[in-house]
Amino acid sequence: MEKTADIIIIGGGIIGTSLAYHLAQKKVKGVVLLEKGMLGEGSTAKCAGGIRAQFSTEINIRFSLESLKTWNHFSEIMGTELDFKKVGYLFLAATEEEWTIFRNNSDLQKKFGIPVDLLSPQEIQYRWPFLRVDDLQGGTFCQGDGYAGPHEALSGFVRGARRGGVRIYEGTEVLQILRKGNKVSGVRTGRGEIFSPIVVNAAGPYAGEVGKMAGVEVPVQPFRRQLFFTRPFPYIPDPLPLTIDFSRGWYFRREGKGLLISGPKDDFPSFNLNVDYQAMVEVARNSMYRVPIMEKAEIDRGWAGSYEISPDNHAILGEFPGLRGFFLANGFSGHGFQHSPAVGKVMAELILGEQPSIDISCLSVERFSKGEPIREALTAFKE
Ligand SMILES: Cc1cc2nc3c(=O)[nH]c(=O)nc-3n(C[C@H](O)[C@H](O)[C@H](O)COP(=O)(O)OP(=O)(O)OC[C@H]3O[C@@H](n4cnc5c(N)ncnc54)[C@H](O)[C@@H]3O)c2cc1C
Repeated sequence: MEKTADIIIIGGGIIGTSLAYHLAQKKVKGVVLLEKGMLGEGSTAKCAGGIRAQFSTEINIRFSLESLKTWNHFSEIMGTELDFKKVGYLFLAATEEEWTIFRNNSDLQKKFGIPVDLLSPQEIQYRWPFLRVDDLQGGTFCQGDGYAGPHEALSGFVRGARRGGVRIYEGTEVLQILRKGNKVSGVRTGRGEIFSPIVVNAAGPYAGEVGKMAGVEVPVQPFRRQLFFTRPFPYIPDPLPLTIDFSRGWYFRREGKGLLISGPKDDFPSFNLNVDYQAMVEVARNSMYRVPIMEKAEIDRGWAGSYEISPDNHAILGEFPGLRGFFLANGFSGHGFQHSPAVGKVMAELILGEQPSIDISCLSVERFSKGEPIREALTAFKE
């Protein structure tokens, strides 16, 4: 391994590799990416691949619209295929409060030109007769939303980064961040030290741990989230939108010939990634409630991953105040996959001293110490 670098990226998930790719696109040399395990083995590997423009804050909508430029033209840009399935996202509102907020959200989304439809329970029933609607107030649907494979996306970024000269080391854990006073000066890894004036924390759910290595607090915590998969399930017609029952915190979509179903979310932080078979009981209950025909479904397997949650469910981007050269690309709170193209782009611009193409000042970590978190009417839904 080299002894010096111009930029070190800690973490080879979708965020670290997107940043590496965007730096390579800008012809930056001397970029080193360090991954403690294998590329993409963290949250990225566990992700449901959801991509949507239906967000409830301007900053997240801007990130979605910028990212869609890449997702919509991935194979032309990256030279690798991405099977972006535009089946749409269907959000279901069961309470009046949710329905009012959904309508307000759709007004905001329409200001950005997002073609979102407001649907009555009858319209929902007509289009997707397998859904239970008798308790619903309404729903919102956007055909441009959908899902894609995190592995394919990550491969595209990695190939592009390598082609542009980024040096990528797997099996290389960062153990300490070296500082000289109020500046970073490099990292100590299990394989030796590398000196660099810029170190980027792209460690996903481990962002807080990596922050501690630099002696600073990065307010990101890991929360387990489980997904389950059924055997082939032919009783629901395609195309099936990624359907979200907001009140129940439940969603499902097609996965191959079967279904992917979301499990309960832990409300305490931990790095526990065990599949909890008790969770299947809740999954089955939620599934049969909203889609009664799912009583015929057989759960085949499941997995658990970590959300990287920030205190206001929004990303934390920027240079850490008081520690020059230490950059954060953290806290995506369950949306990091879909926003990775835009995040890589704006972080590359920021690190190079350019004006970021999206104003990310509201995402600075200082918003928490200043008591200015981003506020949403409903806590963001996290796929
Ligand atoms: C069940 C589930 C479903 C999800 N569904 C969606 C979805 O539908 N749409 C969406 O947009 N997002 C979704 N997400 C969220 C998404 O997966 C994450 O936001 C995204 O993958 C974050 O990427 P990352 O690169 O920051 O983190 P990661 O993919 O976790 O990458 C961080 C990397 O850093 C490495 N690392 C950590 N510490 C060190 C160290 N000290 N030294 C070296 N390397 C280190 C880790 O090994 C890891 O590979 C989902 C997440 C889960 C768990």
